[in-house]
Amino acid sequence: MRTDQLDKTAWSDVDKFVRAAEDSDYYLIDTAFKLLTSSDEEVALLSLAQLTRTVRHRIRRQPTDGDLASYLSGCMVQEFKGTTNHLANVWTNARRASSRQKITWTFAQSKPSIQIWDDVLTSVDRRKILLTFHSRFQAKALAALRALPSQGKAMDCVALSPASTHFLSEGNYTRFADWRFVHKARLNLVPLNATKQWKDQQDKLCRRCGKWEETLPHVLNHSPMHSAAWQKRHNAVLQRIQAAVAFKGKIISVNQAVVQGLRPDLVAHVGDELCILDVTIPFENRRPAFHQARLRKIEKYRPLTEFSKQYGWKKVSIVPIVVGSLGAWDPENDVFLKKVATKSYLNLLRKLCVSDCIRWSRDIFIQHLTGIQQYGQNSFKPAQIDGVQEQSFPNQTSHVGSPASSNASSSRSEPLSDDCSPQPTPTLPPSQSVGAPNSHV
Ligand SMILES: [Zn+2]
Repeated sequence: MRTDQLDKTAWSDVDKFVRAAEDSDYYLIDTAFKLLTSSDEEVALLSLAQLTRTVRHRIRRQPTDGDLASYLSGCMVQEFKGTTNHLANVWTNARRASSRQKITWTFAQSKPSIQIWDDVLTSVDRRKILLTFHSRFQAKALAALRALPSQGKAMDCVALSPASTHFLSEGNYTRFADWRFVHKARLNLVPLNATKQWKDQQDKLCRRCGKWEETLPHVLNHSPMHSAAWQKRHNAVLQRIQAAVAFKGKIISVNQAVVQGLRPDLVAHVGDELCILDVTIPFENRRPAFHQARLRKIEKYRPLTEFSKQYGWKKVSIVPIVVGSLGAWDPENDVFLKKVATKSYLNLLRKLCVSDCIRWSRDIFIQHLTGIQQYGQNSFKPAQIDGVQEQSFPNQTSHVGSPASSNASSSRSEPLSDDCSPQPTPTLPPSQSVGAPNSHV
């Protein structure tokens, strides 16, 4: 890429498989910039002299700083219009690459700087060029994906936190089955009736209830026939959160009615504060869906705030924990969780909650398609991750038949085993490095 061994057309062919043509341009610009800003003065002077010769050949006179900048920026007007460089060198390559990527060069006292979209990089930033290119490219690609009316819905929420895609590079805590499901699901490319735009309205109805359009939100969050599995998905996340809160706080009640029929998932005493926690798993229907889910919970449990204050609690807070059913983590959860978990434990907790939601949603989806239940009847505990022991609670009686259990569900669901999972065993629990109790993670 740096030496321009392949031309743009050849890289475009490679682009059909991996993105390479743009990278090739970035390397060519990077090479030219690094030569001109080299810390070795001799290299920098020789480079500037060769660039000056190349431009002089093109415009038939001694170039100024402005001419050097115009040349490398790919200017094709006035003197640059009617002439050409017969021999390619590093500067002609950089000129073509800058023109394609719309990079603007500036020279001041023969020192270059380049503008990449809104960023201006000078010789001080000479090592940051490729990083800036790549981060800007990622931002551009993400914005384009999020803007898509259908494919962008879930991705808008997924983009909120890196934890939502933690499994991409190493596949931690993720079964192959989950992997195959989640990418298609997040892009709304699953074979459900309502995703087939060419079908008649009647043919888009749910294959199970026949009342509503068979969309992914209907299957994962609205179809009553899967309500038992929703509960298990909710409980899986709840138990992770419960383990985290028990680390620094005192659990007062779990899923108990308090007043007016209100039954928060957790009531805990953290510091000098009474915290009323409730886990909610909305569908990723863009970011406002998460915000509204949070507001609904706060509104629902508001009467408990007054009730608790009557009993002498001075500080009472309602803490909704929002995780999308396709595993999008809401970073607003972290505001509270940072109070009870160390940084490394919170990092792990996010990943586990994300993977739990994906695992259960995949099993709900497959059950919807095939009619075959993917988990056991007595499943209480979230999928246990090999090598990670969580704190036990008295109400956790059995986890036989959880999606990860290979005993009861091996014939129906893919087990989380060494053979099956891309990387089921995490590295050392972070608690060991930060001194948190082992029982906690
Ligand atoms: Zn239905």
